[in-house]
Amino acid sequence: MISKVILIKGKHQRILSGHPWVYGNQIETVQGIVEPGEIVEVYDGKKFFLGKGYYNEKSQIRIRLLTRQREEEINKDFFKRRITSCWNYRKQLGYIENYRLVFGEADFLPALVIDKFGDLFVIQTLSLGMDRWKTTIATVLEELFSPKGIYERNDVPVRKLEGLTEQKNFLSAPFPTKFEINEDGVKLFVDVENGQKTGFFLDQKENRKALQFISEGANILDCFCYTGSFALFAAKFGARHVLGLDVSESAVAQAKENALLNNFENICEFQTANAFDELPQWVKEKKIFDVIILDPPAFTKNRSGIEAASRGYKEINLRAMKLIRKGGFLVTFSCSHFMEPGVFFEMISQAASNAGKTIRQVAYLSQSKDHPIVWNIEETSYLKGFVLQVL
Ligand code: SAH
Repeated sequence: MISKVILIKGKHQRILSGHPWVYGNQIETVQGIVEPGEIVEVYDGKKFFLGKGYYNEKSQIRIRLLTRQREEEINKDFFKRRITSCWNYRKQLGYIENYRLVFGEADFLPALVIDKFGDLFVIQTLSLGMDRWKTTIATVLEELFSPKGIYERNDVPVRKLEGLTEQKNFLSAPFPTKFEINEDGVKLFVDVENGQKTGFFLDQKENRKALQFISEGANILDCFCYTGSFALFAAKFGARHVLGLDVSESAVAQAKENALLNNFENICEFQTANAFDELPQWVKEKKIFDVIILDPPAFTKNRSGIEAASRGYKEINLRAMKLIRKGGFLVTFSCSHFMEPGVFFEMISQAASNAGKTIRQVAYLSQSKDHPIVWNIEETSYLKGFVLQVL
């Protein structure tokens, strides 16, 4: 018998409006003994059915709903239907080779991430309830895509909140985990075992194209360059010189290799450096760039860190604005969900006024379409950015 969870009266509005999470403090009663990861039925305080999802006593997010239909069984077919629908959505939007196939909550598969690089797949199961289905999901991928390989990148600290360990494994026969991809005409090595996150930032796909028309003949700085994706695109779009900076030595080594792969070694130069040290130093030295790209990591992973994060973002944006020639461009991002658009706009606006610059918005940027945003599931929205002309 499937256990029933009854919510406290009036504590179901968020769920009714589309959010899949049930917190411990929303729950009135749990009927029976529920094993970690088990599927339960959720009812509101008036005993109306809300949905079915997996349960974890250890997590603050006690339940994540998988379906709103009582008759829908959670089994291999369920995952096959959902993943097929994820695939169809991506196909419709023109994604063929490299893309995020499953983006967790935004694809109604909470805590599941699957990235596809050609015929290789990388999986993250970030909650205990989803982790239990990992082998089933791998089987579904085998059936749908006949992949060359599947790799698990579960070395993610958030798993601890669910009582899970961090781990990396093959979920298929082993394969070379560093390989070449072709992203809109640029070649890059992706290392799904040792790279950051799942190896490559697919969420910036459309934003790399924002460098077209502003790169021709330009002297460009790509701060937080990782393996150089923006730098390489700038070179493709005609940059005269691109300097890429990253604090990670392995990222810089990879970026250099990527430059060679595209014969951009005379245009793209990469250095291991801390942007917080270099930018102020260069302001003192009165260095000038035509375009600066700022794509820092998430400076905060929770609400309480917003103020400190905002200071960090402001610091680099202010310095960058000072380093850009009049009429040049700043391409700036924040990938922290907690840095909400309003806070981000305000921070940029303050940075501009402190730098004594007028800024003109050229484009507002967001995450790629394979990372869709579900309104009412606010956590699905995280990447925002601007192309700004600095006057
Ligand atoms: N623009 C990249 C992704 C950037 S991810 C792309 O499109 O692929 C953020 C990067 O910032 C990481 O590679 C990380 O190593 C780097 N980083 C973090 N702190 C840094 C710092 N203080 N200075 C320079 N790089 C930093």
